[in-house]
Amino acid sequence: MSVTNLVKNLQNCIKNKSHFGKNFAIIGAGVSGLISAYFLHLCGASLTIYESGEGVCHGGSAGFQNGGQLSFGHVDSIASIQNLRSIFSLSCYIKVNFNLLFKRQFVKYALQYVKNCLPQKRKQNLQELANLANLSKRVFYDIFLQNFGDDNLSGCHYNTGGTIHYFYNQKYFLQKIKHYTSLGLNFKILTAQQAVEMENALCNVSGLCGGIYFEEDNSINCKLMCEKIYQILQNSGQVKFIFNHSFLHNKDYKIENGKIIALTQQKNFDCFIFTNGSGVNNLLSQVHNAALPQIYSMKGYSFDVDVSYSSYAPQIALTDSKRRIVYSVQNRYNASQNNDYNTFTNLSFLRVAGFADFTHNPSPRQIDKRIKYLYKSFLQSFRSLKQSTASNFWCGERPSTPTSVPLIIGEEQINISNCIIASGHTNLGLTLSFATACKIVGFLSLSDL
Ligand SMILES: Cc1cc2nc3c(=O)[nH]c(=O)nc-3n(C[C@H](O)[C@H](O)[C@H](O)COP(=O)(O)OP(=O)(O)OC[C@H]3O[C@@H](n4cnc5c(N)ncnc54)[C@H](O)[C@@H]3O)c2cc1C
Repeated sequence: MSVTNLVKNLQNCIKNKSHFGKNFAIIGAGVSGLISAYFLHLCGASLTIYESGEGVCHGGSAGFQNGGQLSFGHVDSIASIQNLRSIFSLSCYIKVNFNLLFKRQFVKYALQYVKNCLPQKRKQNLQELANLANLSKRVFYDIFLQNFGDDNLSGCHYNTGGTIHYFYNQKYFLQKIKHYTSLGLNFKILTAQQAVEMENALCNVSGLCGGIYFEEDNSINCKLMCEKIYQILQNSGQVKFIFNHSFLHNKDYKIENGKIIALTQQKNFDCFIFTNGSGVNNLLSQVHNAALPQIYSMKGYSFDVDVSYSSYAPQIALTDSKRRIVYSVQNRYNASQNNDYNTFTNLSFLRVAGFADFTHNPSPRQIDKRIKYLYKSFLQSFRSLKQSTASNFWCGERPSTPTSVPLIIGEEQINISNCIIASGHTNLGLTLSFATACKIVGFLSLSDL
């Protein structure tokens, strides 16, 4: 289905409450699961959401403290020659724990990753990601903003105003311009001076050679948005949340005659939607389709900087293209009191997020080292913020495919009639969550459940 038809289909399903009377189970209450739940609820469905953590978008899920960028205007895949080189270089925004090379699953993943760095494959992956980002943008602007409401949105630190990707290397800058042009994306090229005029905080970036401005990119606090959606779904009376429950093969469900059967419920569900990040490997190992990749967890790091008293803080969301760090300005929330994310003050903080590590269980020392390196990289761009307090240091896991293109698949690819899998969104899960939800509604309206 084309982007326009997918959006129209979602609009119709909402208008006609097409999934009224249907019972769906969603496994995983991260951002993909919650946005999908939100749209399915608008389509009239009854939902039961299983989450192994203690709440929605909890500290162990990938969106808890992510960079918050809605990168509708541009996309990138982690599978690239440049990233591959970085693994072996000192700049190391990507790191691999070489012990993993003795693990069969990881070697399989790594081989697929390398294959996808080849120009032809990469082009294909980028085009697929660009199509998904375009769909996400349409769903976000045409449907989500209208239904979610201004009040809810303003409580989620939603910032418009675009993003600037800034560059230090002329050759790389020109390469990126060529690359974004070939994908047909909308952007504005900025000289170093124009970039500083647009965002004064870039004045301290030494060696700045220019920027690319994406007007369509925005930022939002993923955790707060998920909390709001949780409240809306709770109040609807149509959605049941079951927390602290890992939904597992042979414990909670079995696969019989091409169908999933729940073992934990008296009644059965019309469809099972797995949005449980890397947890989907448990199901993927039961699915007989050799072409499906494993989902691997790629570690990322973030922290917040109190910029309430600084006139040097960025006002526009930024991306440091060399170090692969994203910055978004958000209103400050008071997380100290029982995780009460709704207690706002007028102050603001800068969310700093970045890096990608392939490592299984990093030790606290390894995490500490990476966060210190992230902090040092942040100061290299914004040394005037060095007096500001940094806090909320976090290490999260991005569920990733070797291509960065998420698996959003239904019956055709998995030969199970009542099951949809949506996972592996890598570094774009927040951005693509609206497309994911739209595709899930599309699958459900095509199937004869
Ligand atoms: C540092 C960092 C910065 C990022 N910045 C951005 C950004 O700026 N923009 C952007 O678009 N994306 C960004 N991302 C990526 C984005 O956050 C992720 O792609 C996205 O959160 C993935 O969401 P998900 O719901 O698919 O998976 P997850 O968030 O991993 O959610 C899966 C959920 O399923 C639960 N679960 C797992 N197994 C089971 C089971 N068996 N039963 C029940 N529950 C289960 C887990 O507890 C979890 O809550 C960033 C990620 C990181 C780490």
